[in-house]
Amino acid sequence: MNPFPRTADQESIRKVNASIILNHLRLHSPISRAELAAMTKLNRSTVSNIVNSLLEQNLVQEMDAMDSKIGRPGIALALKPQGGAILGIEIGVGFISIILTDFVANILWRERVEIAPSEKQETILIEAEKLIEAALSMAGDQGLRALGIGLGLPGLVNTRQGVLDFAPNLGWHNVHLRTMWEQRFALPVYLENEANLAALGEYYYGVAQNVDNFIYISSGVGLGGGLIINGKLFKGRDGFAGEIGHIQRDPQGEICSCGRQGCWETQVGPKALLHRIRHAIETQPQDNPFNTNLDELTYDQIIEFAHQGNRLCRSSLEEVGKNLGAGIADLVNLFNPEMVVIGGSFSLGQEIIQPVLEKIISSDTLSSTKNNLRIAFSKHGTDACVLGAIAIVLDDILREVALV
Ligand SMILES: [Zn+2]
Repeated sequence: MNPFPRTADQESIRKVNASIILNHLRLHSPISRAELAAMTKLNRSTVSNIVNSLLEQNLVQEMDAMDSKIGRPGIALALKPQGGAILGIEIGVGFISIILTDFVANILWRERVEIAPSEKQETILIEAEKLIEAALSMAGDQGLRALGIGLGLPGLVNTRQGVLDFAPNLGWHNVHLRTMWEQRFALPVYLENEANLAALGEYYYGVAQNVDNFIYISSGVGLGGGLIINGKLFKGRDGFAGEIGHIQRDPQGEICSCGRQGCWETQVGPKALLHRIRHAIETQPQDNPFNTNLDELTYDQIIEFAHQGNRLCRSSLEEVGKNLGAGIADLVNLFNPEMVVIGGSFSLGQEIIQPVLEKIISSDTLSSTKNNLRIAFSKHGTDACVLGAIAIVLDDILREVALV
């Protein structure tokens, strides 16, 4: 027996230090022990002890000798891909998407199934659980221990309680998913709103890497947002922050799914675009450029027609760009971000939307807030959410890892 057992305080300091080291390895590897010590301001023997422990636990690996920026060459360290497997899953409106990754977020397996949002909640959950079972068995086949499940949902998620409070476009209320799935799969389960996860996906693996202050905006069925402030997802008290789609921008506007009038979502979402085009054609049928039934018209078709030069589709998309830009300008004035990342269905019409949007943002923001502001389109598109789901599981594991 160890004659000098560590006290609880020493133990928690050691855990915090281990977590700091793991996070540096996550963001900066390959990196030597000496560089780790310099970056973390921990002394070299502390770094060495913790690294040895992490090597024993198979969470970290030694790589080739590398030229260190500090002193003599050192052995490069990195997180070990075989450290474990993580599942990221998104239950969206009309689909379920899942990825299985290793410990450094390399995608090992993926699946996406379409499922009508009108299906019963039970049916959708059974389908999602089947996909999780499949991912877990895949992890087992590869000899990887599953570490956790991250889940993105299209609605208001109480992240403290692990409950989906309300998903308007699925019609789900008060679903205790964390408890349900932790019991069923015996793994930690992390819930989060899908746009918040997509913001994290872009932060860790996409266009916003190392950008500590940015706003993520995406349109799916609704309009969602995620705020990264000082390198952290801004969640608010219970996790409901970022509902930017329901900022009222036109008190005389159309009725929104939330019951108010003229929310931002009613101006710029795909539903709004389709509605506007149908309305324009109904009032002026001679302008109808489409051979299809108006009810069957899709967002993708509108983008295609706009690219082919159809005036109605093009001007409607430009209108989206205008309204999107005006709302973004307000957010820029409020948060002074370094970057605005635009994702979801907006990416499809980027060529038309972007110039209009940039012009409005430039004219409607205060000159100080627009200095060096970058507008970027999402790198991962529809994968951003599931990658963010992997990131929140990793975040927690790297914070909580128990050192032997
Ligand atoms: Zn609304």
